[in-house]
Amino acid sequence: MFLDYNYYDSKYNLTVQKYAVKDIETLALTKQRHSVLRVIRESDRHLTANEVFEDARRLLPGISFATVYNSLRYLKNEGLIGEIRLGTDANLYDRKLTRHDHAICTKCGKLVDIEMEHPQELVNRAASIAKFRPESLEFTLRGVCPDCLERD
Ligand SMILES: [Zn+2]
Ligand SMILES: [Zn+2]
Repeated sequence: MFLDYNYYDSKYNLTVQKYAVKDIETLALTKQRHSVLRVIRESDRHLTANEVFEDARRLLPGISFATVYNSLRYLKNEGLIGEIRLGTDANLYDRKLTRHDHAICTKCGKLVDIEMEHPQELVNRAASIAKFRPESLEFTLRGVCPDCLERD
């Protein structure tokens, strides 16, 4: 259903994996959910629910925030979009579905994907400290992005 491809982002010195919907029309979705999915798929950023709402309204005038919010939950539960929770900030929605990490800019809030293997030793150590059986580890790099560094 989905076609994935990788590209190298020299600006961020990262390999970014992107997903493109091969045929979004084959999904049995209501037109509201379809619009919300399209907004996320077509964005090259991670979007808040409010941003999704603003864009979805352009595709489907009259769609309510509640409907957008419910659609986001549905799409997330169906595994069609990713959701990122960063503490107390608003959740962000992600078109990329495979496990990946994020770097967040502490100046402008930009969030970029990081493709990186976690050393098994780090996973084991975190699990041993927490006394958990490990399943996955998420890593968030906080720092200053290249655009903000340039502006300084
Ligand atoms: Zn920045
Ligand atoms: Zn992401």
